[in-house]
Amino acid sequence: MTVILIFSILSLFLGIILSYIKYSFPIKKNSVVVAVDNLLPQSQCAQCGYSGCYPYAKAIVKDSENINKCIPGGSDLTFKIAKVLNIENVEKSLDSSATKNEKKIYTTVLIDEKNCVGCSKCASFCPVDAIIGSPNFMHTVLQKFCTGCNICLLHCPTNCIKIIKE
Ligand code: SF4
Ligand code: SF4
Repeated sequence: MTVILIFSILSLFLGIILSYIKYSFPIKKNSVVVAVDNLLPQSQCAQCGYSGCYPYAKAIVKDSENINKCIPGGSDLTFKIAKVLNIENVEKSLDSSATKNEKKIYTTVLIDEKNCVGCSKCASFCPVDAIIGSPNFMHTVLQKFCTGCNICLLHCPTNCIKIIKE
């Protein structure tokens, strides 16, 4: 009992110190990274190869990552990022070995509604809320919002989600 009490007081004390440090010395974000991040769609779909939009923005600014890796953003986004970074000849600046947006096949997904059991697993994992439906009822994909990240495919127990290529 005494040990638990000591650890609780210690945790509380450490929590207060950490909160104090966090608010007294806020981490300053790089403004260019923030500007690039603000352009990204924030769908956190990881199709760029990073765990989300902010890590990708950081890699673009700090590690000279290619600016055309965001599939949902497409080439419009590539040009917007180039403008923020003052890149004049966009095509020339891109690594030729990197996959260019226009060469990628844009995909979305479709739910075979007859076989949907309404478990809602796909909807709960969709990072952009592109799947609608109620528990125990059929679900469907709003094509307009689907980024084709395919995350839902991995979570469907009946394999009723199929990829559509454009
Ligand atoms: S591909 Fe685009 S939308 Fe997806 S995580 Fe990367 S930057 Fe975000
Ligand atoms: S592929 Fe699935 S999880 Fe990804 S955006 Fe489309 S519906 Fe959502």
